[in-house]
Amino acid sequence: NDFEDYFLKRELLMGIFEKGFEKPSPIQEESIPIALVGRDVLARAKNGTGKTAAFCIPVLEKVDTTRNAIQALILVPTRELALQTAQVCKEMGKYLNVEVMVTTGGTSLKDDIMRLYSTIHIVVATPGRILDLANKNVAKLNDCRVLCMDEADKLLSPEFEPIIEQLIGFLPRDRQIMLYSATFPVTVKHFKERWLNKPYIVNL
Ligand code: AMP
Repeated sequence: NDFEDYFLKRELLMGIFEKGFEKPSPIQEESIPIALVGRDVLARAKNGTGKTAAFCIPVLEKVDTTRNAIQALILVPTRELALQTAQVCKEMGKYLNVEVMVTTGGTSLKDDIMRLYSTIHIVVATPGRILDLANKNVAKLNDCRVLCMDEADKLLSPEFEPIIEQLIGFLPRDRQIMLYSATFPVTVKHFKERWLNKPYIVNL
């Protein structure tokens, strides 16, 4: 299997190769083709397996950069991980003219509001701040058809879980959810039952 087999946009393939990726890792091989056709994905994957690219590649492929709309939301539990994930997206999307924004607590809300007046295609966020921006109708999520959740076991803590449910309320009905988790605690199972639509399960 090769990255060429996925018929990705030329510019995306260039970004992938420029990162030095030659072949898809097992989690990428399992989840990229499924995610590309729009199906929900539930993957059990440890850090270091290439899961960031496993969801960033389909997200970058799906984003139409000629449109001025947030088209994907990537939720992560910490600011540190948000910065790392956005960096991967920006590097792989280098030739795509894609605008990636990080928004998390602990930074200026006003700066985030200003940034959202400009074109943003992909938002990488911790749950609280992006919900705040959605509630203020500054972050418009009505065109955001892809939701990725990384480290979902941590994201679905009692603190974050109700926030995520509210966020899903802002997304269109025909959204796609990709969920990545190192472990499958009961919180993740409940979330799957409630929100995922016949997910393809990746278990590596
Ligand atoms: P992750 O699990 O997303 O944290 O990725 C772990 C490391 O593997 C990162 O340094 C990635 O840049 C690298 N990586 C991810 N996918 C590939 C690939 N297909 N080929 C080579 N390295 C990769």
